[in-house]
Amino acid sequence: MMRFGNDKVILVKGKRGKISLSVPRAGEIRVTADPALSGEAILAFLCRHERFILRRMAQKREEETRFSRVLSYRKALVGGREYDLCIDASVRSGVRDNTVFAREEAAVPHVIERRCKEEFLQRIELFARRMGVSYGKVSFGRGKSRWGSCGKEGKLFFSRALFMLPSSLCDYVIVHELSHRREMNHSVAFWKVVASILPDWRERREALKQYEFLTDLYGGKGEL
Ligand SMILES: [Zn+2]
Repeated sequence: MMRFGNDKVILVKGKRGKISLSVPRAGEIRVTADPALSGEAILAFLCRHERFILRRMAQKREEETRFSRVLSYRKALVGGREYDLCIDASVRSGVRDNTVFAREEAAVPHVIERRCKEEFLQRIELFARRMGVSYGKVSFGRGKSRWGSCGKEGKLFFSRALFMLPSSLCDYVIVHELSHRREMNHSVAFWKVVASILPDWRERREALKQYEFLTDLYGGKGEL
């Protein structure tokens, strides 16, 4: 096991000549690298990015403290608010009295989806009308490492984890995907479309990052 200071380094096989890193959780650095690279070369790469690593570690630590009850399945997020979480194989699943009742952990995103989906679909409709764009079928699933996507024919896909987020962040993801109906890229023109509806899209996009742990938390078990 390679270490960098006190942090574990997880090596993932990457493409030839390439190396990149991410910080999935506090105390862990994931390095995706060309297997031909030596341990020394990898450590040198980590040293060059030490400041970035330290900043991300501090962020992750802060998130893990703030969301510790969610991370330990004692609470569940519904629309950005913490609800009590009751996991019991014999319970009637649903959201009642500020509590999410589910038969197993993997079912939690589905229970929250049933509660929030209708309102979410209405938000899509509302923004599409405001933006003057059309869209196709809307589906939800595990959004491993992505919150949403928009296909060529306007098919929209969203991660179920979105139902756990504050509505201002859901709105950002909706507007982002609908803006692809105008611009199928992330060009300056695309961000202008986004900004015309949500002038503070940058702050929202930044705020979204702190919730990435949700796709890890529920993504590994069943589907999210
Ligand atoms: Zn996009």
